[in-house]
Amino acid sequence: MSKSEIPQSAERQARPGHVPFASLGLSPQLLKAVERLGFEETSPIQSSAIPLIMEGHDVVGQSETGSGKTAAFCIPAIERVDASVPSVQVLILVPTRELATQVADEVHKLAAFKKGLRSVPIYGGAPYERQFAELQRGAHIVVGTPGRLNDHMARNTLDLSAVRMLVLDEADRMLDMGFREDIEKILAAAPADRQTVFFSATISPSIQSLVRGHSREPKTVRIEQRVVTGPPLVDQVYYEVRHHAKFDALSRLIDFYDVKSGLIFCNTQQMVEELADALVARGCSAERLHGGMAQAQRTRVMSKFKNAACEFLVATDVAARGIDVNDLELVVNYDLPYDVEDYVHRIGRTGRAGRKGRAVTLVSGAGIYKLQSIERFTKTRIRREQVPSVEAVEDRRSGALFEKLRATLEGNGYARQAPVVERLLEQGYTPTDVAAAILHYFAAPLPPRSEAVDAPAPALQRERGGKPQGKPAARDHHRGAKKGGPKGGPRRRYGPGGQKQR
Ligand code: AMP
Repeated sequence: MSKSEIPQSAERQARPGHVPFASLGLSPQLLKAVERLGFEETSPIQSSAIPLIMEGHDVVGQSETGSGKTAAFCIPAIERVDASVPSVQVLILVPTRELATQVADEVHKLAAFKKGLRSVPIYGGAPYERQFAELQRGAHIVVGTPGRLNDHMARNTLDLSAVRMLVLDEADRMLDMGFREDIEKILAAAPADRQTVFFSATISPSIQSLVRGHSREPKTVRIEQRVVTGPPLVDQVYYEVRHHAKFDALSRLIDFYDVKSGLIFCNTQQMVEELADALVARGCSAERLHGGMAQAQRTRVMSKFKNAACEFLVATDVAARGIDVNDLELVVNYDLPYDVEDYVHRIGRTGRAGRKGRAVTLVSGAGIYKLQSIERFTKTRIRREQVPSVEAVEDRRSGALFEKLRATLEGNGYARQAPVVERLLEQGYTPTDVAAAILHYFAAPLPPRSEAVDAPAPALQRERGGKPQGKPAARDHHRGAKKGGPKGGPRRRYGPGGQKQR
């Protein structure tokens, strides 16, 4: 692998729309939590919305799942709570049970260092008793579905008189689901001087009328996407996989294409750590690069990758800024980037210097909507492919092996090994047996079959380019590679002499 350098100045030095969390005036407790979560910089919706919400404005944020919108309202919500006062101070309305638990989970993580802060998810289909008990124990932040919240209000088990901030997450979806009346009742029951924050993927006339009726001089935050041209020589492909099958899918692709130099992007430091560990565990030579590492360490890793001393580099966008490598075989979006510019910048690491490159994006769940918006704003069609089957990996490998053996036979450099073969033949083994046994001894094992990868993704069945047919029940948050992690199985075996065998 030869990697030529491009001048450092040609790399983008700043990511517009992304700022350090430290510049937002957050409390040390929140900053510590954000750091522990491995968020290196804000996403664009966060840099626009957090300061406005923290200033106390009513805000309407137009933003989709996968944009980081949950943290955009959870961070100011947590900052707003006085944990010494035992009352519900923030109410977050969400359309589904899944979203209620996901948002409550995000609150929990972001409030990890806010002593005494309690939050509880309240949704239909779960027993009332536990919810009564939770509410009675005192919750500062309640995340709930409108129907069940109304039930609690009717039973006097939810007191909204101390609510300072009311958030409507995925407001368009709540209206689509027929929650308007429940929402109106909740909004009417909360104090009039509260702050109201709406997040919605679309701002339809019905959302506008809801906003008009229940907010005061709201500020609108919308992330304007520019059309950005992608690099012409990059073959762009995506694979739709279940979230927990991402690692298996990546492993198959590495084997299938016999990739020897790849840059893999993740959105958080944790994900970088977990993925790099998982790749190393399966026999790949992989290094990691993220903003949580000391500069000296980062420099060492970059030069290792540049000098082809490792095959894979797993990195965050922030840390990858300084990489001056320009003829990578493959770029992988293990996590979808937050904006189109990041996507284009990431994939521009391959397909340089007149060579053809390959950019692979793993998409799960609702990420498909984001991918469609990337297609729209790069004016490129990203081809959908199926993750290769174990048989396809095997076929490709045996084809490559055949070619290598034929070249070796033509080269005649193997004569010194002949005595071993002759001894085996003298013992009565057939030439075919001997040759097959040798191949078997040195061959790398095939990746295991994986139900998760081989089963079709539960995907949002949709017509390409058409309107999505129904939204997913749950959003797909990455919860680390562990579940789908190292079980991808070893990629390579080391032969008796300790050399890598492919
Ligand atoms: P959401 O759009 O809220 O569904 O967020 C998508 C995922 O991105 C969630 O798993 C978040 O934990 C994660 N996330 C949110 N903000 C950031 C950030 N600034 N950096 C990295 N990951 C983030």
